[in-house]
Amino acid sequence: MEKIKMTTPLVEMDGDEMTRILWQMIKDELLTPFIDLKTEYYDLGLKHRNDTDDQVTKDSANATLKYGVAVKCATITPNAARMTEYDLKQMWKSPNGTIRAILNGTVFRTPIIVKGIEPYVKTWKKPITIARHAYGDIYLNVEDQVKEGKAELVFTDKDGNERRQTIKEFDADGGVIQGVHNCNKSIEAFARSCFNYALDMKQDLWFGTKDTISKKYDHKFKDIFQEVFDKEYKEKFDEAGIEYFYTLIDDIVARVVRSNGGMIWACKNYDGDVMSDMVSTAFGSLAMMTSVLVNPDGVYEYEAAHGTVQRHYYKHLKGEETSTNSVATIFAWTGALRKRGELDDIPELVKFSNKLERATIATIEEGKMTKDLAMITTMEETVTLNSLGFIQAIRKNLEDLL
Ligand code: NAP
Ligand code: MG
Repeated sequence: MEKIKMTTPLVEMDGDEMTRILWQMIKDELLTPFIDLKTEYYDLGLKHRNDTDDQVTKDSANATLKYGVAVKCATITPNAARMTEYDLKQMWKSPNGTIRAILNGTVFRTPIIVKGIEPYVKTWKKPITIARHAYGDIYLNVEDQVKEGKAELVFTDKDGNERRQTIKEFDADGGVIQGVHNCNKSIEAFARSCFNYALDMKQDLWFGTKDTISKKYDHKFKDIFQEVFDKEYKEKFDEAGIEYFYTLIDDIVARVVRSNGGMIWACKNYDGDVMSDMVSTAFGSLAMMTSVLVNPDGVYEYEAAHGTVQRHYYKHLKGEETSTNSVATIFAWTGALRKRGELDDIPELVKFSNKLERATIATIEEGKMTKDLAMITTMEETVTLNSLGFIQAIRKNLEDLL
């Protein structure tokens, strides 16, 4: 078979620890034998981030803006222990945070559904995608613990005029206060990313906040979504036969649990943090989730939702066998290659990506899986494979499909 040719480079962001090992295995076994892989390679491994004063992270994000599609391996976010382990010059920021700030995006996370790994919610038949706004609210808050006195909300406009509201007059018991913000521009970008993604996936978009209680803050989110929808997306949604609908977040939660799934659920930053853990756990496993960052100009960065699986890596270093699940990392590659294929009009690349996903799911449904899945599956006869063995089993199925 002749190898599939690519025209535009895919931005490749390599990472750390066990996922870096899986990354190479996936390329060697599942990609380079079939594709003339054309990537612009950035090594986001912690050592190289430290050597380049983290410039490589910024460069990789800027390359993503230039080419439009990236695939990212999981990376270490340094903490005190990593400072000594890697002898770091400073405690570099989270690469995901840096990349998100440059791309200005929304993160979409969707469970990968296979027979034998059953959701805890019986009615869920189709995946539920969480679209999480990745800017502001409590993640950029100012807060304090106070004693007796008055807390006020003061806004000074550009001409120096003040607007002042009392938040609370505290008695001697004291209490806690917090200031949060968001920007209209960021909310608009969030809205557009969600509407574009819904059109891409041909799925309904649901959005909920607490606008009955938060009549200015949450209400602004509701209003901006509605304005952007009416002005730019209503007709496109009608044509695609999909729906946008807004209701209170409590109502959304109840509807989601009763639903069959198959929708995109847009969440404010904190709601998205909490609800994506709820949804992924209820569907089975973090290693069975896709994750893509989409910016309003249609730039895509695909990654796995889990970390670098440090505990497995240390076993690997000691020469012990590992059984690490590579599904999320494989789907990061297929997502990115399919998007590249769509943008560059290379149908073979799109077909290949679909087949690799089918081969991966088929392997698990045949009962061949890694240990994390073997522990939760409802299947009776399963074979637990090691990290490489699982990828090689997928390769067999892939070769049959090609
Ligand atoms: P983690 O890498 O997600 O792993 C936590 C545990 O979850 C593992 O020990 C393992 O459980 C299980 N697990 C996760 N992914 C798995 C997979 N693919 N296959 C099998 N089991 C899997 O989280 P962490 O250990 O808290 O973080 C390690 C490093 O990852 C940290 O340095 C953190 O900064 C980084 N991180 C990066 C990202 C990212 O780049 N997107 C996200 C989160 C964390 P068992 O040990 O019980 O088998
Ligand atoms: Mg969280």
